[in-house]
Order: sequence, then structure tokens, then C-alpha cells
Amino acid sequence: MDLKPLCQRVADRLGIDPLEIKFEEIIDDSRLYIKEEYVAINSKFENDYVECAKAITHEYRHVFQIFYANMFNDDRDRRWRSELSNLVNTSNMSDKGSNYISQELELDAFSFTKYYLDKYESIRINNKIAGYDEIIDKYISINYNFL
Ligand SMILES: [Zn+2]
Repeated sequence: MDLKPLCQRVADRLGIDPLEIKFEEIIDDSRLYIKEEYVAINSKFENDYVECAKAITHEYRHVFQIFYANMFNDDRDRRWRSELSNLVNTSNMSDKGSNYISQELELDAFSFTKYYLDKYESIRINNKIAGYDEIIDKYISINYNFL
């Protein structure tokens, strides 16, 4: 399965360099290693193009967020910078993960993924977390100029 063309398209859309993809046995579906400059995708998705597309788009959006938050100084950047300094991940999330999905950075990454994959890759996805899709759809309708 060749993911390189997809990686390049998503990176081009976001104005970033494509990060290398590695399959690893991890707890999460995917994980961004920003210092090491790669994205790890759970080995169970090695032959699942849609899950890989979701992971790549989501994690690349986080790379974009890190650049964006340090480049400008509007309200959104300030909020993003403070979230970035205090990131919630699977190691410190609450039982149901409510503090994880309530982060604006995660909402933005999930929303970008849904919007981008539908519009540019003809892949339609729905979030597994109940009720979260309505929030994502609302975020998309308000922020589509930014996605
Ligand atoms: Zn994320």
C-alpha cells in the first residue's frame, strides 16, 4: 500500500513537509513524534487505507497547528499555544476521554480530517465517539475557511 502520494497531497494542502510514516505497536490509533519527525500508525491498520488516511490527515494537522500557533498572535494562536503547552493524551486523559476530545486542537484535527478527506479524497468518515460528529460538523460549518 503506497501512502506517499496521499502524504504529499495532505502536506501540500497544509503547507508543511510530509512526515515519514511508520507502523508501530502502540495503544493509540496513531501518534505524532514531532521531534523525531514521523507519524506512527498502529500496526493493526497496516492494510487499511481509510484508517491510514485518517491517521495521516489528523497528525499532519497537528504539525500545521504547531507551526500556526507560533507564527501569528490572534486569539486562536494564543488558545492553541496554551493547549500545546498542556497537551492531554492517552497517558493523562480522564476515564471517558472527555478532557481529550474537548481540546480545541483535537476538535480542529478531527474536523480538518473529516472535511479534507470528504472534499479532496472522496472518503466519508464518521467519528466513533457518540455525539462528537455534531460538534465536528458545527466546527466545520463555522471554520471551513480555515480548513
Ligand atoms: Zn490528535
